[in-house]
Amino acid sequence: MPACTVIGGGLAGCEAAWQLTRAGCDVDLWESKPAAFSPAHASPLLAELVCSNSLGSDDPLTAPGLLKAELRRAGSLVLRCADEARVPAGGALAVDRREFARRATTAVALEPRVRLRRGVLEAVPAGPVVVASGPLGFGPPARELQRLLGDALHFYDAIAPIVDADSVDMARAFVGNRWDRERATGEAAYVNCPLSRGEYQALVRALREGRKVAPRGFEEPRYFEGCLPVEVLAARGDDALAYGPLRPVGLEPPPGWPRPYAVLQLRPEDEARTCFNLVGLQTRLTYPEQRRSFRLVPALHRAEFVRLGSIHRNSYVDAPRVLGPELELRARPEWRLAGQVTGVEGYVESTAMGLLCGRLLAARLQGLAPAPPPPETALGALHRHVTRPRKEGAAYEPAAITHGLLPPLPGRPGRRDRRRLHLERALRALEAWLAPAG
Ligand SMILES: Cc1cc2nc3c(=O)[nH]c(=O)nc-3n(C[C@H](O)[C@H](O)[C@H](O)COP(=O)(O)OP(=O)(O)OC[C@H]3O[C@@H](n4cnc5c(N)ncnc54)[C@H](O)[C@@H]3O)c2cc1C
Repeated sequence: MPACTVIGGGLAGCEAAWQLTRAGCDVDLWESKPAAFSPAHASPLLAELVCSNSLGSDDPLTAPGLLKAELRRAGSLVLRCADEARVPAGGALAVDRREFARRATTAVALEPRVRLRRGVLEAVPAGPVVVASGPLGFGPPARELQRLLGDALHFYDAIAPIVDADSVDMARAFVGNRWDRERATGEAAYVNCPLSRGEYQALVRALREGRKVAPRGFEEPRYFEGCLPVEVLAARGDDALAYGPLRPVGLEPPPGWPRPYAVLQLRPEDEARTCFNLVGLQTRLTYPEQRRSFRLVPALHRAEFVRLGSIHRNSYVDAPRVLGPELELRARPEWRLAGQVTGVEGYVESTAMGLLCGRLLAARLQGLAPAPPPPETALGALHRHVTRPRKEGAAYEPAAITHGLLPPLPGRPGRRDRRRLHLERALRALEAWLAPAG
């Protein structure tokens, strides 16, 4: 089997290299540290957690917990080290970050099939390459990605909050697409949350006055005009939002309802419509201020947020446009991407994209036809999010794992049953996927 080069010894790079060695591949793993650090990295160890020491919920009834259960079952090095370095944190998997990184570094360094190379690789060799240089990657691989991908490589990540569908007060919202009547576009996609003038003004005030998360030193607050934080837009003028993302034009409320001054649109995140994205409301407000401000919208007065908004520096690709099913770059198929750069968010999701990249590449090098994990699994749901073609005009947004990414369950089970059924279905499907490889 040809040797592989893995660039980046973070969570995804370590995991991809580990999976490749399990299948008998030799790996040159390049890590720039300690010769060169990104602005967020500080330790010479591999698998550095740059911020929180929590890997999120470990309850398998939650989507992040399910993803962890699957990673453990699939033989993840990162999860093994996390379990070994675990510290008490209620239902979350939190780790002693130094101990965690030390264990991962030792495991990789002692693996006979890995040649650990320290430094910035000046010329990327021919043959299979996994780019796992992370959201703050730099040097020749980052430059080559930029050259190959142009505007399909993003540097800022603007995230709008997502609400649980069950927490939207549908008595104060209406369903319909913009200009529906004229266009008769078929099934209405959007849930529209109307605001009176007074309600709109209260929201604008809350957005302007709410506390914002201060940018880190290396995150210049330099936004693309197309994805301005909602509070920046609100500061531009009293009606900037009413003419922007909250414009009511073309949205027809039911007969007898007052004409709205502004409308906040909710776009379904998943086919089963279990959660909705707040369209255009990417924000840098602190989490408590987001909850307080967005609950001023009458239909969201009791909203439960599945994810809150944020904006930060993040290199990621427009994955459905540029990646094939084995996470290979269409423009350069011998290069594959792993980790956050594929367009996922978070430590465990990035690990998952390292594991998948490693396993899919190993299968290809063994002359097998690599099959992606089934979409009913959390691993498969992430793979599908990253590789499935978008609807025309829809921008690609990096995803963290949620149940909304999994295909709907048959029938309409209640919330508690839904979680259990997702877990059972996912673990069954995962066993079937892992079985051929033993
Ligand atoms: C400031 C910040 C805070 C974050 N906070 C959280 C959080 O609290 N919780 C959470 O879940 N996620 C958080 N994330 C996201 C999280 O860091 C990533 O999801 C995860 O670390 C990505 O894993 P990765 O392996 O893709 O990249 P990384 O873990 O970043 O690993 C990339 C590795 O590649 C190396 N590298 C880069 N360029 C080169 C090169 N040219 N040659 C060789 N090596 C190179 C780097 O030194 C690094 O070791 C945060 C991200 C940032 C930037």
